[in-house]
Amino acid sequence: MIQITKTCPHCGSINLVSNGHNKKNGKQKYRCNGCDKYGTLDAAPRYSEERKEEILKAYFERPSMRGIERVFGVARQTVSNWLSQQAEKHPDLEAALNDVPAEQDVPEYDELQHFVKKKPKAVALDGD
Ligand SMILES: [Zn+2]
Repeated sequence: MIQITKTCPHCGSINLVSNGHNKKNGKQKYRCNGCDKYGTLDAAPRYSEERKEEILKAYFERPSMRGIERVFGVARQTVSNWLSQQAEKHPDLEAALNDVPAEQDVPEYDELQHFVKKKPKAVALDGD
């Protein structure tokens, strides 16, 4: 006999209790005695990665959250959660700012002045 041990995806506990079936797809639902969470064990993600990327791409064109909700039929909180997940993937601001290359890439003042003087209609900075 093969026995499949089911574990809670949240806490890893094997102390699960059957808790009815999903009305839509008929999958067995469980409740975890370890962490009190419940649901199906192999729940399919509601949005594919492509769809999620498409919605986030649309969001970055700066419509309102409610606009995204109306057009794509995705809850604002879901979009907000995706944005938080994306933000966590980025390096933190302080580390990013400290990573700026050294001074040689920054133009010196006299280099800027040279650039200004090259233009025919530029006003002279020293007033003559
Ligand atoms: Zn659990």
